[in-house]
Amino acid sequence: MIIAVSACLLGDNCKYNGGNNYSKKVAEYVMGHDIVPVCPEVIGGLPTPREPSEIVNGIVMHKDGTSVDEEFRRGADIALKKVKEAGAELVILRSRSPSCGVRSIYDGTFTGTLVGGQGVFAKLLIDNNIKVLDESEI
Ligand code: SF4
Repeated sequence: MIIAVSACLLGDNCKYNGGNNYSKKVAEYVMGHDIVPVCPEVIGGLPTPREPSEIVNGIVMHKDGTSVDEEFRRGADIALKKVKEAGAELVILRSRSPSCGVRSIYDGTFTGTLVGGQGVFAKLLIDNNIKVLDESEI
């Protein structure tokens, strides 16, 4: 099977703080499959490291109010295209990210509070009928 995966889960240092979210569980789950690593925030032109972002009233922004909505949505669009062109049947995504979160995301108050909902990329994948899994479901 062809499986796209949030690149940070595979150990790519594309996380906002310059680190990664390597998951042994995910790595073992995708072993033997064709893997397509994807990071919509980097694809959208954002630097690493970068300021953390949350979705505030539908707009992705930094804590100081700077909007990065355009970069997030452009990155999600390009990443969707990459997933489709690769023929991925499943996308495994990092929990809680404003791009990749599937089940819950931070609520836009930058206080570590979670609410139900999806990140920009996860929502776009779901809207395009592409099967997604939150890493916590692995
Ligand atoms: S955008 Fe997704 S793949 Fe990129 S660092 Fe954030 S959670 Fe990981």
